[in-house]
This record gives sequence, structure tokens and C-alpha cells, in this order.
Amino acid sequence: MIIGLIKESEKERRVALLPEVVAALVKLKIPVIVEKDAGKRSYVSDDEYIASGATIHTKKEVFGEAGMIVKINPPTSEELGLMKADQIFLGVLNPLVDHEIVKKLAAAGITTFSLDIIPRTSRAQAMDILSSMSTVNGYKAALTAANTLPKFFPMFMTAAGTITPAKVLILGAGVAGLQALATSRKLGGVVEVFDVRAAVKEEVTGLGGKFIDVEGARDEKSAGGYAVEQTEEFKNRQAQAIHEHAIRSDVIICTAQIPGKKAPVLIKKETVEAMKPGSVIIDIASSSGGNCELTKDKETVVTNEVTIIGNSFFAIDMPYDASKMFGKNVLNFLKLMISPSEGFKINWEDDIVKGTCVTHNKEIINERVKALIQN
Ligand code: NAD
Repeated sequence: MIIGLIKESEKERRVALLPEVVAALVKLKIPVIVEKDAGKRSYVSDDEYIASGATIHTKKEVFGEAGMIVKINPPTSEELGLMKADQIFLGVLNPLVDHEIVKKLAAAGITTFSLDIIPRTSRAQAMDILSSMSTVNGYKAALTAANTLPKFFPMFMTAAGTITPAKVLILGAGVAGLQALATSRKLGGVVEVFDVRAAVKEEVTGLGGKFIDVEGARDEKSAGGYAVEQTEEFKNRQAQAIHEHAIRSDVIICTAQIPGKKAPVLIKKETVEAMKPGSVIIDIASSSGGNCELTKDKETVVTNEVTIIGNSFFAIDMPYDASKMFGKNVLNFLKLMISPSEGFKINWEDDIVKGTCVTHNKEIINERVKALIQN
């Protein structure tokens, strides 16, 4: 099996595999061919790929020769045209939402693995690209907030007087929220955190944040560590609590999401209007609708002198380390299917491999994706 690494399109600065991962694959006797300039926007040259054991080719050659295509974003229509039945695609298809690409790949007979639906078991942690990219998102969200706020984050006692620390409110304490908390604390902010999953309370306090308790949240063990939709009564109580904390905050970092669903709206227009002028809202949930009613995805809007930044893809702005983490996740996933005696072989017995596969043999085989597409 030859692995082909594809260059991403213009707006994407990451690359799926850095040379260090290519070297590890070559060591496992898996040849890697790389599209010319694949790593350029992540500051990696073709020469570095060659030094790691890869060869450089045109896009057409890579699609023609590779048994498996590795790319972060879904194939473009040009790339779909270059793919052959029984080829494997490994990347991020967002299949719970983007049904059209799934149908096209199934019809073309491509076997697809989408790393964003990897089962969230402890064994899969080292392959979890959502966790990796959320780490970058949470970190960058806190830095962007500090950069945009017209105040300091830390407390200072200076000859020119005392500076009070910035008050940060974080909505959602998943991977991104906890990273935003840790980064905001390192910058010296005072941080409050809200989540519907009581399980995260200890992690929040352990990182120096204050957990805001709102009674009566639905927290289902069956959701595999994820949040579930809340009752109307809870949502109203939650909105009131968030409003009271929001109007005292300088910064709000929104990270609350429910997989495969629209993000919960937690900050209403009235709350933004009551916030202090100069405050900043960073909405990482913007690509799934946003936690703030006024968020515009991929845009910065200013309402009532409150700056609202809608960005779910801060990882693109930190391409080197984001690519490093992504590639390591890919390598760990591929290792489930590489053995010294048989080389690469899809291991259907492995629940992680099976649970990450979306299409195979012209069919959509992932039950979650199939159920959503059929409804
Ligand atoms: P996510 O991005 O889906 O959601 C972010 C956070 O938003 C979650 O903590 C969620 O509870 C919260 N949220 C949802 N609705 C909310 C609401 N109405 N109000 C407030 N908060 C709300 O989640 P994620 O960061 O990808 O992961 C969530 C959890 O999954 C982790 O904390 C962890 O427990 C688990 N996880 C497991 C693995 C693994 O074992 N492989 C990997 C990553 C995460």
C-alpha cells in the first residue's frame, strides 16, 4: 500500500503529515508519495519530505499511484474526479453534517475513514484529531481575546496604579474550553466556567477556574462523555445565570457544542447589549451556529462596542504544530492496520477502525451517519 499525501486548497495552511510522520511510515515499510508543495504553507519544504524518505509528484500522479489518499479536508470535485474505486481516503469529512460528500464518495466506491468520528474511547485518545484541534482552538481563542481586549489580562500593581485582572467567562468545558481556561489563567485572568456536564467540575477547579453550577442539567452517561440537548426549563434558568455572569465579564470564550447538532445559543442579543463596552466574545462554536445569537461565522462583528469573533478554525493559524498533532493522530490510527508480517490491511475487527469508516463497497457503513442521511 502506497500512501499519497495531498496538498490542501488555498485557505488551508495545515498539512496532514509532517516529514517526521512520513519517516515513521517509511520505517514501517509503507512508502509515501507527496504532492509538490504539500507542506509549503506549514513551512515544510519538499526537500524535508525527500529527506524523510518520500518522493515528490504532481497531484495527478499521487492520485494515480497511491492506494490511500491522506488529506485533512474532503476531496475537491477535481480530486474526486481523480479517485478510483477501491482507493482509500483518510481525512476529515464532517460526515454527520456534510452528507453530499459522503454520498459522492460512497457512489464512487471509495473506502473512507473520517477521523472526526473516531469513537471516543481511552484507546482512541492518541488518534483523536478533534481533541488535538480543540487544544489549538482553545489556546488561540484565549490569546486572541487577550490581544483584542483594551485591558490587561493579569493584575498589576504599578507606580501608575493598580490594574485589576480581566474577568473571563468560558462556556463549555470540553477540550477547547479547558485549554482556554488554562491559557487564560497563565495570562493572569480570573476565570469562571459553565458546562452542563457536572463531571468537568473537578477539572475546572483543578485548573484554577470557578465552576458555575446551574441545577437540573440533563447529563447522560449513554452520550459517551458528550453533552445532550437540555429541557426548555433548564435552558431558561441557564440563560439567566449566564446573563448575570456575562455582564460582569470582560471576555467570553464560547466552546459549547453538541455533536451533529446546532450549537446551543447561550448568549442572547440582550446579554450582549448589557455587556461592558470593549468586551470581547470569541465564539469557537461559530461553524455550528455559534453560542452567541449575534455571532457571524468567519467574521468579526462589533455590536454595542462588544467585539464578537466567530472562528472555529484557529488551528489554521497555527499550521506547524496543528499539522504535527494531526499527523501524529493519523500515524497512531494507521498503526492499527499495519503489521510487520502483512503490511497494511484494514482491520475490521478493531472497533476504532470500524467506527471511523464511513463508506466501503459503495455503501455508507457508519450507523450514525447512515441514520442521519436516511432521515
Ligand atoms: P464538544 O466540543 O462536543 O463540546 C464542548 C463542551 O460544550 C462539552 O464539554 C459540552 O458538555 C459543552 N456543552 C454542550 N452543551 C452545552 C450547554 N448547553 N451549556 C454549556 N456547555 C455545553 O466536546 P469535546 O471537547 O470534543 O469533548 C467533550 C468530552 O468528551 C471531553 O471533555 C471528554 O470527557 C470526552 N473526550 C473523550 C476522548 C476520548 O476518550 N478519546 C477524547 C476527547 C474528549
